[in-house]
Amino acid sequence: MINKIKTLEKIAHQLEPSPEQRESMRQEVIQYTEKFLNDIYTLNAYNTPKDIAKGLLENPISDEPAKINDLTKSLSEYVDFPGLNTASHGHLGYVPGGGIYYSALGDYIAAITNRYAGISFASPGAVTMENMLIDWMADIVGYPKTTGGNLTSGGSIANMIGIVTAREAHDLRAKDFHKTVIYYTDQMHHSSVKDIGVAGLKECIQKLVPMDDGHRMDANALEKLIVEDKKKGLNPWLIIASAGTTNLGAVDPLKEINSIAKHHNMWFHVDGAYGGFFVLTQEGKTKLKGMSDSDSLVMDPHKGLFLPFGSGVVLVRDKKKLYNAHHYEAGYLQDADIDQTMSPADASPELTKHFRGLRLWLPLKLHGLKPFKAALEEKLLLAKYFYEKVQEIDGIEVGPYPDLSIATFRYVPKKGDPNEFNRRLLDKIYEDGRVFMSSTTINEKFVIRMAALSFRAHLNTIDLALDIIVKKIKELEN
Ligand SMILES: *Cc1c(COP(=O)(O)O)cnc(C)c1O
Repeated sequence: MINKIKTLEKIAHQLEPSPEQRESMRQEVIQYTEKFLNDIYTLNAYNTPKDIAKGLLENPISDEPAKINDLTKSLSEYVDFPGLNTASHGHLGYVPGGGIYYSALGDYIAAITNRYAGISFASPGAVTMENMLIDWMADIVGYPKTTGGNLTSGGSIANMIGIVTAREAHDLRAKDFHKTVIYYTDQMHHSSVKDIGVAGLKECIQKLVPMDDGHRMDANALEKLIVEDKKKGLNPWLIIASAGTTNLGAVDPLKEINSIAKHHNMWFHVDGAYGGFFVLTQEGKTKLKGMSDSDSLVMDPHKGLFLPFGSGVVLVRDKKKLYNAHHYEAGYLQDADIDQTMSPADASPELTKHFRGLRLWLPLKLHGLKPFKAALEEKLLLAKYFYEKVQEIDGIEVGPYPDLSIATFRYVPKKGDPNEFNRRLLDKIYEDGRVFMSSTTINEKFVIRMAALSFRAHLNTIDLALDIIVKKIKELEN
């Protein structure tokens, strides 16, 4: 047996590369990422996919080691080339962020030290750091000292945690669901509809609240629905508002909605995954008034703080409610209970988790807040600039004035179906590839959507987008 163990040990030991091996692999990885970053302002925002199977699927995982330069070559051709380049300054579709560099260094350290960030007993430092970041976010949005929260992988999971907390706080049980009502508008992000299902709440009554001309929730209509539902013997329970819809960046009237929620003893959840961090700007603070009164709130650092993907956050005004909905006890964790600090594992469905705090803490500390605030304010202005400039193009029709950093438009062609034309216009823009915009349908109109939130998008990006729009319209009209 000893011989067998020793033979296995020798092979297993390959998992611990020598300092020289680490150095050479690291050099290759650094060369790869440096090239990517040095070229980033000239790389396309969108590239038509190649034959990915050839590079990846036809090289399956096997017993034998591969060479690092073959692998970076595959990455470059088959992963980092095709499709949407979300790191590009020209990414103006969906909700961009970019992916700031110091986060990558935080991830690097976190992966090497592999601290167990789930439970305070195992890593009091990592948990303190995460809780400190949650306290900081509570502070910037105006949440009280009683706030608890969780650093999640993104907004979808963060919304789910908020909804599950609301369910437990109101002690809802399956027998109550058919009489329980959830209110939101049809502009709410689809992830919350998914989360309602995941939280087992599909049997709840879900009501779409009418909206105003700017596609914001109509607070009077909401109140009316709730009063009517109460008369019918139903239980109005949850309101989900958007602090910046993904479609238009429209902010629901949060202050009014909060008063209604409080008056009817309801849970008020705000989805600020896209827009929440604009609270770091003066204008954002005004636009997001009332966000601080909600019971739970979601924000996405991988959007509004420009982090690489993998960072959302949920804040819950009363941390006891978050804890009650997610705490557990287990025999194999009995040693962990000696500590009083709230651990991430008590605030989410996750137990073992990535040490997400470091990818947020490191850039915030290294940069300080100033450049984040400036970038956010810049994006608000870029959207307004775009909104004004795009209207100077003959035949362009715009959507609502941007509440935050999203603007929509469409071209009304001299003849033919506008929806068809704008679909082709967008295809032309993809073909060009230097900028990427997405589309949406508003009042049955196909519109093109420009979202400024990449930290790399500046005035020259917007001017480039405007140039491309003019050129492509001309090509299509001729
Ligand atoms: C992006 C987004 C989500 C989903 O968040 P993910 O981080 O993509 O999971 C939810 N709500 C809004 C308003 C969003 O913009």
